[in-house]
Amino acid sequence: AEVERALRECVVDVPDYPEPGVLFKDITPLLADHDAFTAVVTALASAGRDGDGNVIVDKVVGMEARGFILAAPVALALGAGFVPVRKVGKLPRATHAVSYALEYGEATLEIHQDAIAPGDRVLLVDDVLATGGTAAATRTLVESCGGVAQAFSVLLELTFLPGRDAVPGLPVTALGRV
Ligand code: 5GP
Repeated sequence: AEVERALRECVVDVPDYPEPGVLFKDITPLLADHDAFTAVVTALASAGRDGDGNVIVDKVVGMEARGFILAAPVALALGAGFVPVRKVGKLPRATHAVSYALEYGEATLEIHQDAIAPGDRVLLVDDVLATGGTAAATRTLVESCGGVAQAFSVLLELTFLPGRDAVPGLPVTALGRV
C-alpha cells in the first residue's frame, strides 16, 4: 500500500522535459519522503531474495544517475555490494564499455573491470525502464565481467515502450507501470 501511495503521490509528471514532447517522471519528491523511499527500497530489494527470503545476489548494480540513489540502499538492505555503471569517462580505472543507440545519437556506459567477479550474481536497479537501452547495455557490462544478471528491479516501467524486450530472459520487476 505504501509503494502504491509513493508512486501515486510522490512521482511528478513534468511535461516537455528534457525536451518537447517528453513527459518526464520526476522521482525526487519520493526520495524526500522517508516512508515512500523506505517502502520502495524494500520492494526493489525483494527481487534479490528467493521465496524463503534468502539473498540470491552478490552485487547490486545501479545505473547513473538515479539508479545510484536506489541501488545503493538496496545493496545495503540485501547485504550485497554496490557497483556503479557510469557514463563514459567517469570511472578512473580500467573499464569495460558498451555503446548503444539513442533516438538521436549514441550513448556509452562503463563498468570497472574488477567491480564484479566471475560468477557473481547481480541485481540491476534503475528508476525508469523506457526503451530498455540502458538495461540492455548494463546487462552486457555485467556479463563482460563474467557476472550473471539475475534480475532487474525498476521503480517505473513505461508501458508504451517495449523496454522489457531489450532484456530477453531477464526477469523484470516493476513496482509501477504507467
Ligand atoms: P531507456 O534506456 O530504457 O530508454 O531509458 C532509461 C533511462 O533513462 C533510465 O536510466 C532513466 O533514469 C532515464 N529515464 C528515461 N525516462 C525517464 C523519466 O521519465 N524519468 C526518469 N526519472 N528517468 C527517465
